[in-house]
Amino acid sequence: MEVLKKSIQYVKGVGPKRLTLLNRLNIFNIEDMIYHFPRDYDNRSHYKNIKDLQIGDKTTIRGVISGNSQYIRINKNRNIVKYLVRDNTGFITITFFNQPYMRNKFKPNDKIILNGQVKGSSYGLEIINPAYEIIPNLEYKTKLDSINPIYPSTEGFSQGQLIKIQQNVLDMVKNKIIDYMPENIKKENKLCDLNFALKNIHFPDSVQALRVAKYRLVFDEFFLLQLALMQFKNQIINNKNTVPLKSNEGVDLLIDSLPFKLTAAQIKVLQEIMQDMEKATPMNRLVQGDVGSGKTIIAIIALYKAVINGCQGALMAPTEILAEQHYISLTKILRPMGIKIGLLTGSLSKKEKEEISQGIKDGKVQIVVGTHALIQETVHFASLGLVVTDEQHRFGVRQRAILADKGNNPHVLVMTATPIPRTLALILYGDLDISIIDELPPGRKSIKTYGLTLDKRNQAYDFAKKELEQGRQVYIVCPLVEESENLDVSAAIDIRDELATTYFSDYEVGLLHGKMNPKEKESIMKKFLKNEIHVLVSTTVIEVGVNVPNATIMIIENAERFGLAQLHQLRGRVGRGHSQSFCILLHNNKSETAKERIKIMEETTDGFVISEKDLQIRGPGEFFGIRQHGLPDFKIANVFRHMKILKRAQNQVEILLKEDPNLSLEKYPLLKSKIQEKYGYFQGI
Ligand code: ADP
Ligand code: MG
Repeated sequence: MEVLKKSIQYVKGVGPKRLTLLNRLNIFNIEDMIYHFPRDYDNRSHYKNIKDLQIGDKTTIRGVISGNSQYIRINKNRNIVKYLVRDNTGFITITFFNQPYMRNKFKPNDKIILNGQVKGSSYGLEIINPAYEIIPNLEYKTKLDSINPIYPSTEGFSQGQLIKIQQNVLDMVKNKIIDYMPENIKKENKLCDLNFALKNIHFPDSVQALRVAKYRLVFDEFFLLQLALMQFKNQIINNKNTVPLKSNEGVDLLIDSLPFKLTAAQIKVLQEIMQDMEKATPMNRLVQGDVGSGKTIIAIIALYKAVINGCQGALMAPTEILAEQHYISLTKILRPMGIKIGLLTGSLSKKEKEEISQGIKDGKVQIVVGTHALIQETVHFASLGLVVTDEQHRFGVRQRAILADKGNNPHVLVMTATPIPRTLALILYGDLDISIIDELPPGRKSIKTYGLTLDKRNQAYDFAKKELEQGRQVYIVCPLVEESENLDVSAAIDIRDELATTYFSDYEVGLLHGKMNPKEKESIMKKFLKNEIHVLVSTTVIEVGVNVPNATIMIIENAERFGLAQLHQLRGRVGRGHSQSFCILLHNNKSETAKERIKIMEETTDGFVISEKDLQIRGPGEFFGIRQHGLPDFKIANVFRHMKILKRAQNQVEILLKEDPNLSLEKYPLLKSKIQEKYGYFQGI
């Protein structure tokens, strides 16, 4: 194993300058280099017939030089050499710019291999400055005749140099890497040997070998992370102690006093939470429930339970508005029971902050609601027993852990409206138990959704006007313009200006976008909440759980640019009151996928159905902005593209867990130390 940890500076071909460049690529030792996987491959092993070539192809051909070169001198500094190359199927021109020595490079009837990109020209097809090699016969195998890696690189570092260093490194470790994967697991999952995988991921012997290598490495990434997450979870259960919160005094009364009956799904989830809180090991639970499924009340009851057991509770929300809304709900329900509730956000005055902080410290404040102001160093709790974070996907694992660290292993409850299929949830939230609220409170009118092509947008605005006349409010969401946030903002400004002077000239039209500072955003949202703004034009910043029940219509401009899951989240901003709500998706009707998405949105409002479909029809990496989940970066695995391998790896972890419930991995010491090495830091957070 030692050899892997050796500094990269000892590798042949690495001098001080290249060392700096390698470091810039996060490569410090031999192992980093080996795990610096190609981002793509240049597959030169498939020859094409000239007649099948198309403009734009990157291709390799074998052919014969047909006749002598043609030399064209344009001026002193510019010249061109051309040859005609033929195979059994046709002719192609090859052209070299400013390489006069190429004039005599080939003789008629030389056999050559060429690699390059096919362009169109007045001569027909042409390859400019191709890579070439003269070969003795047309069956001859050469270096050009292979699958070559293309590496992520940095300025001043050529592919050739990287390839050379990689080759040297692989020579050094050849067959010396100890495979940590137990034989039975390899056999069961048809995994190749690690040495084979690491060699072939860089310099594949064949397309098949590359596939096999990739499969092994993708499997490993999923498997190791999933195993580490499960182990981490077990450690929490086995090793951490906390105060069990056993009393339920008044919980039933509280539930009876609510203006509504809890749904069966809410009751089930609440029971799971209460059982967790009564244990002497900390709860680590994720509650998933679609927008409007009633997660807040669950959090409130859990916080209440913490308080009657003599502990404090904290509720953390991603924005001030959300925190304030939660504060209002908590106050309404819990203040009559004599519970002291505090609000801590960034916009309080220094004095107010100090006062609240003091109250939290001496225990006078029993429940505190806030933004991430809560996780600042200055905040200390007297006895923190429960931490709830709302809309988890805005908080990373780290922030969650910092807040939990403020108590003595408090119970942790995480709430999210992001519906995630089980496979993904297992790897995104592998350290958490999962509860699902799979039912909406009765009597909800489902949001009526219509797709409308952009040329009919006036119909959408006319319709919105009718709602406004009834005293309702309107959201208009402008798309993300990918290239630049500035363009985004200017598109939103344009739409606001246009609408404020035309359709909605009798109403107050507000604007909200990501370039505004938090204070400005909050102030606009507050005005919208108070119905001082009637139409709110915004970029996607409104996505997170804001509740304005009087807003009944949402118009989404260029809906084809949004993913399904995102459309679903946006749509969830309406339909929060008693009246029928509407969502109009303006789209350009061009792409098939877009049409499919719009149709799905028209047909269903079930977040889980939508997220499954989203996975099916969206490209990789787009799902809900996966990075927000605080997942470690994968080097080669991709949760979307490799869903099947992910399932397989999870399956294998489950099998291990059955035979070794504590995942102590005593039977597999190599695997154990690999996990420790790669994910040991989990224990620290
Ligand atoms: P979310 O799960 O999106 O956070 P909320 O907790 O904000 O949803 O709940 C949305 C609305 O539904 C709130 O006004 C809340 O009071 C109400 N609500 C919650 N549970 C029920 C229920 N069982 N019956 C009726 N209304 C409910
Ligand atoms: Mg909510």
